[in-house]
Amino acid sequence: MTIDPHATSALCDALDLVADPAVAVDQDLRVVGANRALIEMVGDRLENWLGEVPLDLVHADDLPIVLSSFTSIVDKDFGTPIEIRLRHGSGGYRLMELVGATHPTDEGHIVVATMRDLTERRRWELAAGSPERFRAVVEHASVLLSLIDANGIVSSASGMYNRHLGIDLAHLIGSPLADWVVDHERDGFRAALARAATTARTSVFEASFEHADGRVIPYQLSIANLLDDPVVGGMIVSASDISARRALEARLTQLATTDPLTGVANRAALVTDLAGRLAVAQSPGAFGVFFIDLDRFKPVNDLHGHDAGDTVLAILSQRLNGIARADDLVARLGGDEFVMVCRGVDEAAANAISRRIEDVIAQPVDIGAATVQVFASVGFADSGAATTAEGLLAEADASMYRVKQRRRGRYVGSQLRVAERRELVSDLRDALRGDAVAAGLRVWLQPVVRLQDGSCHGAEALVRWEHPALGLLSPADFLSLAGEAGLDVALGRFVIDAAVAAASQWSDRSLVLAVNLSAGELTEPDAVRAVLDALDRHGLAPDRLCVEITETTVLERAAAGQRVTAITALEHLEAAGVRVAIDDFGTGYSSLVHVRELPASVLKVDRSFVHGMCDDRADFGIVAAVIALAHSVGMRVVAEGVETEAQRAALGELGADLGQGYLFGRPMPTDQFAREWSTPAPELEQAS
Ligand code: C2E
Ligand code: MG
Ligand code: MG
Repeated sequence: MTIDPHATSALCDALDLVADPAVAVDQDLRVVGANRALIEMVGDRLENWLGEVPLDLVHADDLPIVLSSFTSIVDKDFGTPIEIRLRHGSGGYRLMELVGATHPTDEGHIVVATMRDLTERRRWELAAGSPERFRAVVEHASVLLSLIDANGIVSSASGMYNRHLGIDLAHLIGSPLADWVVDHERDGFRAALARAATTARTSVFEASFEHADGRVIPYQLSIANLLDDPVVGGMIVSASDISARRALEARLTQLATTDPLTGVANRAALVTDLAGRLAVAQSPGAFGVFFIDLDRFKPVNDLHGHDAGDTVLAILSQRLNGIARADDLVARLGGDEFVMVCRGVDEAAANAISRRIEDVIAQPVDIGAATVQVFASVGFADSGAATTAEGLLAEADASMYRVKQRRRGRYVGSQLRVAERRELVSDLRDALRGDAVAAGLRVWLQPVVRLQDGSCHGAEALVRWEHPALGLLSPADFLSLAGEAGLDVALGRFVIDAAVAAASQWSDRSLVLAVNLSAGELTEPDAVRAVLDALDRHGLAPDRLCVEITETTVLERAAAGQRVTAITALEHLEAAGVRVAIDDFGTGYSSLVHVRELPASVLKVDRSFVHGMCDDRADFGIVAAVIALAHSVGMRVVAEGVETEAQRAALGELGADLGQGYLFGRPMPTDQFAREWSTPAPELEQAS
């Protein structure tokens, strides 16, 4: 429709009779007339508008509703009123109610839209409409609520700031919110606020506020950016206290990293520590690993009982701690094996430390009814001796064994260790080079069930080795050897191929296969392709596969500078549709904050917690909290190691989604799983 100046000026005159802003547009949404009220409001000239499509005046989020109501009005006389945000000449937005009406003209239809400014009324309604009720809602919300402007200045705040943080509201209002954050987090906090002010989404981050009494309290903040909202014109900050979650995380970390009997570090913490030290320096002399094995400890247990044995282990741990310097670490590997890691150790220092260890261990121990004496065999490995934590431990262990042999000149317990290990590694290498199945490598499957009704959800693939000479070996017997020998990637390829092949034959096509990935596999450059190729080869849909990784897997790679590689690989897998699970949760670093950084949707609670949950209230509490927290970040929970009916019932009540354990089924050969657990989906009855 061409614009006729006479018709336009007549139309504008007519529109001027209306006090509210009004505009007329043609069928292509081009402006054919507008009144003075509108031109004043948007602060422009009518000439600049004619023939233009004025959509840049409308807030981007409101465009869909404007367009859809425009399309639907064309064959009606009047449209339904809509509320939209319209740009004001002063820069901000106003909340407008807009009603359209169609008018036939010689040239076709035009739509006249009249508007009413609702901004003031809505503000009044919000502030005064039912002030008591509204304030009560805000005041009793369990979170701290405040409204801040684009510069982070507080314009209103709920009384919770006073009750929780002892802050005087009169001081808070008008001040930058950042002023109340602890010093060392303030810059980060300001940056996060600035980011929140430029993003349309709700931003979530954590920050610690300082209580008037000096306590530091951690909060999770959620910031809704309503700067564009004409009524609110600010950002709503809701802050919830996460002290309880932090405390739980700290407790989990403590439980997961200490040896309960002696209070020193456990194996997992030791491996993490070593990986961290290796990442910083692999040069000889940077640090040293002492492997300590007790001699004559067994007779203490046999003669005086296990309690006496436990006492001895606890006392000896304290003695080792006594000679450790600030940066050193004492760990118990289990049984009567300890490890001490010391920084900056040359050959002379290594000898001196070994002697000191032998001395403190050989001091008599008073166990109440008697005094006993045990001795230490100490092996040593220098930081330059291997590139991985497990490698260093193996070196130190082998050195300890040589010391023992030299000293006694005879067999002392684990004579076969070194030789046996070498043989197993060479057998495994042969097996993976040739026909792995003929050499006895197998994948077994353990059912995973829905806790609600016990129905089958899928299975986890677990590697086994039917060794011709040694019998059935479980992963503990050969996985770490495989890693040390660099055979983990090849072993992983075998497992994923065999497991996916088996899963592709299941008659129930809804079952999900879980496969464990080692750290080595995850960071190997072809990791993602290898997994996707296996799916492709056997025609299994990606969403029927779940890869399991442990937190330690990612952390270990982080220490080696490959955290990003590991996370990128997981992100690619997830993008391809493969699910990701965090395995053995509770035994590693166990930070839920950390877990949320990983692209994972499933959390497997370690069986050590499930094992204790019915007898130990602390374990029960941890399982309950982990389930609740996992659900709060949208993750599904699998409980591992369910062995009793009581555990199943308790887990069901806590809302755990899935379970795995001997109660439902042990790991079994693939054909047995297919027979017993993958029943065909019920078919429609055939009319005969
Ligand atoms: P995981 O991934 O946590 O696997 C579960 C382990 O718990 C399996 O041990 C399983 O047999 C055991 N288990 C299941 N239910 C129960 C129960 O009710 N009670 C008890 N006491 N144990 C139960 P398994 O097969 O010895 O595997 C040990 C670990 O070795 C696995 O722990 C996994 O981390 C690793 N692993 C196994 N297969 C593979 C593999 O193919 N690749 C890699 N990278 N790791 C594997
Ligand atoms: Mg697993
Ligand atoms: Mg596990």
